[in-house]
Amino acid sequence: MKTIFSLSTLLACISTVFCLRNDPSILVIGAGPAGIAAATRLLERGFKNVTVLEAESRIGGRILSVKFGDAFVDLGAQWCHGEEDNVVYDLVKDFNILRHSTLSKKFYHSSGKVIDEGFSEEIFNIMDEVYTADGNRHVPDYLTVGDYCKQNFNETLHQKYGHDREKLGLALSTMDYFQHKVLGFEGSFSWYEPAAKNDYRDCGGDLQLNWNGLGYKTILEVLMRKYPNKIRQLPIDTKIILNNEVRKIRWNENLLKNAVTVSCSDGTEYTVDHVIFTPSIGVLKERAYTMFEPRLSDIKHQVIGNIGFGSVMKVALHFPKRWWGDENGFNFFWSSEDKWSVLRDLPEDPNWIGTSWVTYLYAIETTEKNPKVLIAWFTGNFVPVIEQLSDRVLINGIYYVLKKFLSQEYEINKPDRINRSQWYSNPHFRGVYSFQTVKCKRGNGVTSETILATPLTNVENRPIVQFAGEATHPYYFSTVHGAIETGFREADVLIGLYSKNA
Ligand SMILES: Cc1cc2nc3c(=O)[nH]c(=O)nc-3n(C[C@H](O)[C@H](O)[C@H](O)COP(=O)(O)OP(=O)(O)OC[C@H]3O[C@@H](n4cnc5c(N)ncnc54)[C@H](O)[C@@H]3O)c2cc1C
Repeated sequence: MKTIFSLSTLLACISTVFCLRNDPSILVIGAGPAGIAAATRLLERGFKNVTVLEAESRIGGRILSVKFGDAFVDLGAQWCHGEEDNVVYDLVKDFNILRHSTLSKKFYHSSGKVIDEGFSEEIFNIMDEVYTADGNRHVPDYLTVGDYCKQNFNETLHQKYGHDREKLGLALSTMDYFQHKVLGFEGSFSWYEPAAKNDYRDCGGDLQLNWNGLGYKTILEVLMRKYPNKIRQLPIDTKIILNNEVRKIRWNENLLKNAVTVSCSDGTEYTVDHVIFTPSIGVLKERAYTMFEPRLSDIKHQVIGNIGFGSVMKVALHFPKRWWGDENGFNFFWSSEDKWSVLRDLPEDPNWIGTSWVTYLYAIETTEKNPKVLIAWFTGNFVPVIEQLSDRVLINGIYYVLKKFLSQEYEINKPDRINRSQWYSNPHFRGVYSFQTVKCKRGNGVTSETILATPLTNVENRPIVQFAGEATHPYYFSTVHGAIETGFREADVLIGLYSKNA
């Protein structure tokens, strides 16, 4: 161990002395995956004058693994999506942590009526086919995911079940569920926001790999070299300043050094050579106009407006006793009559034009190594309101849904505690993951994401404010692997600029 430690220290010293022409001051804004990736890569390559400013009281950003029940649950990013060309997978593949997640394909109806398992699976497969087929879409640019999915789902169901009125009726009534499921993938408030034709790419291999109870936070530990062995950790802890929100970024293109001054919520100011900015597109939508001085270009503001950002909500539920046997989850769909009856049953609870908040709960999943915990998923335009509900209202409403759908098969008990996400309400996020709307520039070449990623430069055309974060990735936007790649990308620009051979 001693040898490894001294060797890595020696290597770090050598890289500092021999590779860098000088040690510029670099401020990374945000300690999410993009920020941690950028900072760790810079530290690895011998940069010492690196500071990470984080507004929250923790690192991780939209990775939020919390100890709940017997293991960690993820209220933010949960799955490593893919094995090929996936930096997350590459970083952890030797540690044997990731496991395949089997998600439930079983439907439950609000009437309590049992849905045949084979039929449930057929509908699920049709939804998957329709939704993923819109990836290689030969469809007009103006078409939204909602337009595409609604039409194709309808047509497929009519072809398949047209001869059987009862089955067709039941299948068609899963449309609302389908919409909620798509919103879970897209992170939008409506399925009429994301473009059907978009640049998002799946990595190859298993798209649903979980962290086996350790939480997605493990990837941050791997980046910081705290996992699997703390002995080789990078000196990053002392570089991160928490609870300090950046309010203003003043940049001066005429200065070749100390070109950016950043002012923070606690009154501190940092004057540095370079800034790498990583907060979400939600933060930019709300604050870009007031944060940057001079203001960003019109084209940058335009893409910030056009890239889509909405929210989903997860609620981790702890039960006194496990009641769901070996099931790995439940998917709910409502009849219109039952939707109305909720308003009578829960008259005090909030509703959106006659639709109770509880009907926005569309799926519940189990979570690894946590036998008494379930995760409830809410999507749709009512999420901002649901995020604000008290624990008591949330527990009672979710318990009501569980009883309504499942009490014929299970002896359900009431959750004794919960932990919920509030991604939309939190001003440091204002949502979950970005998507391309029909207004985005797409296709090969210059896209909205590449415009967002373009740095602010000085008169010598050297970058002084760089942009990283998932929404700046040309095709892995919305993911952790995308975010990490962008952090590395921007760090590599500086490494290229300051390496001795440059
Ligand atoms: C519910 C949910 C589920 C998800 N599921 C998955 C999944 O299964 N797989 C997957 O790959 N991805 C998933 N994602 C997406 C993934 O989490 C994000 O793409 C990724 O975390 C984005 O990283 P980032 O570094 O770009 O931004 P962030 O993680 O948002 O990091 C930016 C950081 O900047 C900080 N910040 C903001 N404003 C300021 C300021 N003014 N001053 C200082 N600091 C500031 C924030 O607090 C934050 O820590 C999910 C996200 C959510 C919310």
